[in-house]
Amino acid sequence: MRYCKRCLNVSTRPNIKFDIEGLCYPCSVFVESFDFRKRAEKIIQVVKSKESRSHYDGILGVSGGKDSTRQAIFLKEKLGLNPLLVSLNYPPGQISNIGIRNLDNLVKLGFDCVNISLGPTTWADLMRFSFLNYGNWAKSTEHALFASVPKVALAKGIKIIWWGENPAILDGEMAVSGSEPWDGNRLKYNNTVSGGNVSWMNSAVKDYRKLKFYQYPTDGEISKGDIQIIFMDYLMQDFSYRTNSMVAAAHGFESRGPDLVNDGDFYGTSMLDEDFINVNMLLRYLKFGFGRASDIVNVEIRSGRLSREEGIRIVEKYDHVYDDKLIEEFSSFIGISVTEFWSVAKSFANPDLFTWDKHRFKRKFQIGIGT
Ligand SMILES: [Zn+2]
Repeated sequence: MRYCKRCLNVSTRPNIKFDIEGLCYPCSVFVESFDFRKRAEKIIQVVKSKESRSHYDGILGVSGGKDSTRQAIFLKEKLGLNPLLVSLNYPPGQISNIGIRNLDNLVKLGFDCVNISLGPTTWADLMRFSFLNYGNWAKSTEHALFASVPKVALAKGIKIIWWGENPAILDGEMAVSGSEPWDGNRLKYNNTVSGGNVSWMNSAVKDYRKLKFYQYPTDGEISKGDIQIIFMDYLMQDFSYRTNSMVAAAHGFESRGPDLVNDGDFYGTSMLDEDFINVNMLLRYLKFGFGRASDIVNVEIRSGRLSREEGIRIVEKYDHVYDDKLIEEFSSFIGISVTEFWSVAKSFANPDLFTWDKHRFKRKFQIGIGT
């Protein structure tokens, strides 16, 4: 494993690419500021070319979190548009109270929102299957999350889909790179959704009708619907955890607050709509050697607000942290024991990066340097 020369991005991140100078893709294409008016004109042209029978100016997938709150406000206030919001809700028992209040807040701000809730038994069965077979419980839920927005767009004849960040530019997930930096039509090729096919779920859920909402529309359906996904960070200056949190908070968004002992998100403003995602962040850390703190720190180093050395100190402190109580709750939610949880986690961990003593792991690599 090696690190980017500028930030703390790692070569083990799926689908990443480094240039000959040793910079990760996000660092090699980073621009501090850009001509907003010029870019906005370009995007408005795209929107005008995709006029539809709907009176909405596209669809924005939301969770009520900091990013979607900032995006909704941006479309309304900066571009003067009227998007339809679509939220795929976590089931009862998983969705958090903060998540519910933040979704309420978006409606209070004046947006129309379509809420989608999928059957909780299939949902939990798929989470369990994803965890046991891929070491990533969110593999199935991400399918539903990504698929729900184009499905509503096709059903309503809406041609524009707004999506927050370009994962290639934010993290280095090159599989989604389109023909233009704002073109998101390859979004479904990200590492988790991998094109959107759900046949792998058949072993967990036999009745294919229950998987309909997990299946991403085919390329043929997307092209027939004349759909264009637009990455909004092309238009938004400083699309960062910090700035998005501040803008959202100024519009009624509520955060969890930092938990500096049990949570790698040291700002306490990310992924608030449910808590088990922190378990997935631990699993990702064990597989690839980077956690939640690294994601935040990399953006801050690029923006110049943190030095690489300060970033290393933060990552050393927070990337590996997790909450034992949450692991108990997660194990109970998907119907396994805590012992089984750790045995699965260990089986997916990278032995080149970690050593184990019972269920406690120890990092073998040096942050900022590698293996
Ligand atoms: Zn970098």
